[in-house]
Amino acid sequence: MRTVDVLGIPFIYTTQKDFVDLLVERAERQEKTFVVTANPEVVMKAKEDQEFNGYLQKATYITPDGIGVVKGAQILGDPLPERVTGYDSMVAILKKANERKQSIYLLGASPETIELTVTNIRRDYHDVTVAGYHHGFFDWDSSEIADDIKVKQPDYIFVALGVPRQEKWISSNLPHFEKGVFMGVGGSFDVIAG
Ligand code: UDP
Repeated sequence: MRTVDVLGIPFIYTTQKDFVDLLVERAERQEKTFVVTANPEVVMKAKEDQEFNGYLQKATYITPDGIGVVKGAQILGDPLPERVTGYDSMVAILKKANERKQSIYLLGASPETIELTVTNIRRDYHDVTVAGYHHGFFDWDSSEIADDIKVKQPDYIFVALGVPRQEKWISSNLPHFEKGVFMGVGGSFDVIAG
């Protein structure tokens, strides 16, 4: 997979549509995947914070989440096709998961928001199985959530803890899992909850 370097971050060279198709294929093939959708704030944080940079090193794919990264690539002379955002990817995956009757797990946001998010997804995507979910204010020393995901084996795990918590949670828990497409999606649950 071709990548474009922007300030040390290797961004996948793809369109939003092709990227979602790739993730759906990887879910079907049960290939464990870690997606970071990186906006300029993420790029700057990776430069300044070695620990955070270490989380990104574990990513399977890093996408340009924001016009700032796409513009940056253009200025640096190696353009990227377009933005590939966490929210747009999540919504497109929900549509595909609905057609394929795949399963999801949701981690993050407040207890009220996660309940509303699950309700709205179940209403709008009847054939998506919400295998499990948990709000984003939990004990990081407990393996309860990772254990739950391990048992339920969802196809996609959307993690909405904000930056850098979502990248930290996914990268540190990834070795526990055998399959699953894990993606940090920032404030997306708040949008879906309405
Ligand atoms: N969040 C969470 N746990 C935390 C902190 C934040 O689940 O410990 C949630 C928050 O409720 C929101 C989401 O993470 O739904 C995104 O938060 P924020 O807007 O701060 O992140 P950003 O979108 O800027 O990355």
